[in-house]
Amino acid sequence: MGDQLLRTVADRLDGVLGGSQLVNRLGGDEFGVVVDGGLVDSEALAHDLLAALAAPMPVGELDLVVRASAGVAVAPAHGTDAATLLKNADIALYQAKLDRDRTCVYSERLDVNTVERLRLLADLRAALENGHLTVAYQPQIDLTDRSTVGVEALIRWRHPARGLVPPDSFIPLAENSGLIGALTAYVLDTALADLARWRAEGHRLRMAVNLSARHLSDLALPGQVAEALRHHGVPPTELVLEVTETGLMSDPARAGVVIAELRSLGVGIAVDDYGTGHASLNYLKRLDVDELKVDRSFVSDMDRDHHDFIIVRSTIMLARDLGLRVIAEGVQEEATAISLRDLGCAIGQGFHLARPTTPEEIGVRLRADRARVSPTGGRRAAGADVPRPRPATGS
Ligand code: C2E
Ligand code: CA
Ligand code: CA
Repeated sequence: MGDQLLRTVADRLDGVLGGSQLVNRLGGDEFGVVVDGGLVDSEALAHDLLAALAAPMPVGELDLVVRASAGVAVAPAHGTDAATLLKNADIALYQAKLDRDRTCVYSERLDVNTVERLRLLADLRAALENGHLTVAYQPQIDLTDRSTVGVEALIRWRHPARGLVPPDSFIPLAENSGLIGALTAYVLDTALADLARWRAEGHRLRMAVNLSARHLSDLALPGQVAEALRHHGVPPTELVLEVTETGLMSDPARAGVVIAELRSLGVGIAVDDYGTGHASLNYLKRLDVDELKVDRSFVSDMDRDHHDFIIVRSTIMLARDLGLRVIAEGVQEEATAISLRDLGCAIGQGFHLARPTTPEEIGVRLRADRARVSPTGGRRAAGADVPRPRPATGS
């Protein structure tokens, strides 16, 4: 199928190019086109080539839709020999793919960007080996009694020269380079080790760990998760893996298999940033998930913005009717915590309730909770739990 598709693409490209241009396959799914002309001609041709690929491609019984991007470099501005022009067209192509802007012309700014990216990536690889990565935990708070019912593991990178690098700026890098596997393994291992310590002191709470979209097409993931749980002696029901709607949608068939296997282990699945991912609600019906995390963009302002309020309220009702646990993210003030509780949302997470912190601070917090809720030291009943397996939702 792949070969047939490539042949169809080549035919389409040939159809656009007259006799004077040269097209060659560079390898994989990349083609190089040599244009006799300046920047304007090259860009116009790039647009025509992409337009030629827009219609679905019949391959066997299927009509496949392919997406393509183009990077443009022209002589003499961007290089005067073939190797330099190819390298710079490739840098522009990388940017075109990142921006989903379908053509991009090379500029030195992109080059700096790429060198910068590569350097950060090399540093990240080293950080994984040198222990410059740590894991912070943000408490998830029962909105009725304000006890800690779970924590979310959030990676932290203290770079020796740059200081604290925010995850949003290196997670995408790790995702595009294959490093994400090692990164997730590190977070999972650290988080389960800390959870095992808290369990040994008699605390019971859920641990949430973020997964990247890529993991949901990795059929080996459930086995690795099972092994990590066994290694740390943590029951699967105390682990929740957070996935985004985009992750669920990028390879839905495989994601369905991976999620079903994780759930059959007993691990919980949460939909992170719920409401932001352009996914249809259909997946809630097809995929078994355990928890919705309402995105902070709806929650933070819900007491001032009536639309936000309605979205949060209906999401809480939807989750309740589907038998899902719901967590509101981005609780930044007391009024929001109270509104959420009144709407029947059992759990909140946000700077007002508790900031991400060290495992030691979490230990202090858990001991304080226990002293407060049950002065005799007995275990608090887990009030905010939804029973598993979730009830059937009818037709
Ligand atoms: P996320 O999964 O949605 O995590 C919650 C983020 O919101 C955290 O940012 C947290 O510090 C922040 N946050 C919590 N409460 C509030 C609040 O009240 N207001 C505001 N404005 N922000 C709040 P952080 O730690 O910078 O992480 C950013 C994102 O990076 C995460 O978003 C997640 O997508 C990703 N990430 C973090 N750690 C990991 C990881 O170990 N693996 C993967 N794959 N992604 C991670
Ligand atoms: Ca998350
Ligand atoms: Ca989130």
